[in-house]
Amino acid sequence: MPPYDFDLFTIGAGSGGVASSRRAASYGAKVGICEDLRIGGTCVMRGCVPKKLLVYGASFADAFQDAAGYGWTVGERTFDWSKLIANKNKELDRLEGIYRNLLKDCTLIEARGKVVDPHTVEVGGKRYTAANILVATGGWPERPTIPGIEHSITSNEALELAKLPKRIVIVGGGYIALEFAGIFQGLGSQVTILIRADNILRGFDEDVRTNLAIELKQRGTTIMPKHHVTKIEKVAGEFIVHLESGGTIETDMVMYATGRKPTAHAIGLEEVGVKFDERGGIVVDEWCRTAVPSIYAIGDVTDRLNLTPVAIAEGRAIAETLFNKNPMTISHDNVATAVFTNPPVGTVGLTEEQARAKGYTLDIYRTRFRGMKHTLSGREERTMMKIVVDRATDRVLGCHMVGQDSPEIVQCLGIAITCGATKKQFDRTMAVHPTAAEEFVTLRDKVPEPK
Ligand code: NDP
Repeated sequence: MPPYDFDLFTIGAGSGGVASSRRAASYGAKVGICEDLRIGGTCVMRGCVPKKLLVYGASFADAFQDAAGYGWTVGERTFDWSKLIANKNKELDRLEGIYRNLLKDCTLIEARGKVVDPHTVEVGGKRYTAANILVATGGWPERPTIPGIEHSITSNEALELAKLPKRIVIVGGGYIALEFAGIFQGLGSQVTILIRADNILRGFDEDVRTNLAIELKQRGTTIMPKHHVTKIEKVAGEFIVHLESGGTIETDMVMYATGRKPTAHAIGLEEVGVKFDERGGIVVDEWCRTAVPSIYAIGDVTDRLNLTPVAIAEGRAIAETLFNKNPMTISHDNVATAVFTNPPVGTVGLTEEQARAKGYTLDIYRTRFRGMKHTLSGREERTMMKIVVDRATDRVLGCHMVGQDSPEIVQCLGIAITCGATKKQFDRTMAVHPTAAEEFVTLRDKVPEPK
């Protein structure tokens, strides 16, 4: 073995890179890791964590309203956006400290890394050799190039706004667009979502898409399908969004949430022979190994299943494989995921559409009901739950929910689905009463077959 400086050198100290580096160091590997932004990466610093803190912040609006039906008189309410942002930032500082501490057994270099050859990384003007290189550089918001796009913000800036906008136009209908729509709507902004498709959340179960759209509209969010923005103009302190249809929308802020692009270019990877797909994601095999055998890539930079727990699992699997004689690959099947809208979405396994496309003959169970809490609160919110079952084996292929607590509920359903649970086993599971979750184990009636 040549005398490398490190056994593993990780580029990118986000959730995946940190998880892999720590696990490797715990097995005695000599690990270097570099980062040119904040330690913790997208999820902790610019994504999941700050987003969820703002989701919590917005959720109090509902709590104050719903309290009235339970006898509470809530006095005058005021909301201080700058206080929420300052408290959120304080929490991020605390978390960054924790992440630094997690890397105490690794050599952390705070600068941008560039791959020089299959075993050398250059960071801050210095070269380091490594037996293995791990690219965990994540992704970055992507915006179309239209005139005036510089007037728009992305989720990065949305988390740092000096002021809450009175009106905001959000372009895109995916996770980020909808989660921020919920935050802004809950905190009192007037929200318009512009989508190019005919519905939000492409790729999710159709019942999820339809039911979530109903709920968001019910809360006052405007969803405008089949719209394309051609230009954004800044006029006297406000913005005018020009639509292909000829219409315009005046607003105080325009946010783009039109997807994220892998951050893998200009760091020397093409030059050493790493291959990319047409969207710019690094192509890897089941071991997260790139076309260059000593270089691995995990998480969003591979643009497969862009979720934090997936990146963490992939990172740990590499450490297990390389440094613990425990070869491990990660399955991307049955990964539960949530969209933190209000109400939120929780989903695991195949959608009805995916299952039919795979050739399954299905039994579908579905319910839509008003949660007990809203009998007294008076809120017109409905919960939707759905189970997709393979008729031939009775195996539950997917569970989907739009409703309060759905992220927590599907996390547990994910275990059952990973274990291959059948509908009969769901039915034999005793309910917890009174809960919404019990519907998943008490659904009896099949949805009639589509004609
Ligand atoms: P998504 O890919 O989820 O959604 C992108 C949206 O933008 C889609 O509605 C898409 O429309 C639309 N879009 C794309 N290009 C254009 C364009 N040129 N003009 C107009 N609309 C466009 O991306 P996000 O940015 O929301 O999130 C990125 C990823 O981050 C997610 O896929 C997810 O993996 C991850 N994430 C996960 C979260 C969670 O787990 N809770 C939270 C946030 C992010 P169309 O449907 O027509 O393609």
